[in-house]
Amino acid sequence: MDPIEQLAKLLNELPGIGPRQSKRLAYALILKSKGYSEELSQLIHRVKEEVKNCSSCFRYISKKNLVNDQCAICRNERRNNSLLMILSRDVDLQSMERSGIYDGLYFVLGGSVPVLEKNPQAFIRLHELERLLSSRKEIKEVILAHNQTPEGEHTALIIEDMVHQAGTTFKISRLGRGLSTGTELEYSDNETLRNALKNRS
Ligand SMILES: [Zn+2]
Repeated sequence: MDPIEQLAKLLNELPGIGPRQSKRLAYALILKSKGYSEELSQLIHRVKEEVKNCSSCFRYISKKNLVNDQCAICRNERRNNSLLMILSRDVDLQSMERSGIYDGLYFVLGGSVPVLEKNPQAFIRLHELERLLSSRKEIKEVILAHNQTPEGEHTALIIEDMVHQAGTTFKISRLGRGLSTGTELEYSDNETLRNALKNRS
């Protein structure tokens, strides 16, 4: 296959990159300097080598910043360990941290479950979450922070079901109120997130 076509095909597999955009990106890469291409390809290798999941919240982080396999948020004793916020993706966690309004702990599901999907484990870290909930007796409230999209809503229902079935006594709340339909946490401003957290129910 022609290398431009092949590059476009690979770029097309990334989230949010359609067939037309992937071609544009492929041609844009040809125009970049040799130094840029080398740095980019090295970094793609490095992130695979040097990044790992935190063993508690499962977000991706540089191995250098892990201590006993835990990230700085999870090992920060000043954070409120009775609150666990469940998010779909690393970028959602970043938005929440950037807003500075939340001081509890997190769990990153690693995606969301498409509507009608029968096998949620293939899309999210359901078993890992189950294990975490059963081992952390200090958690009092689980906050579902999902995108206000059909997929996000479906994912929240699956998590709610799982928490109920586990027979646990956690309070379950949702960030829902204060977020309008179609809202994605990644693109929400701090004020919106603050209201959503304050009005969780
Ligand atoms: Zn962590």
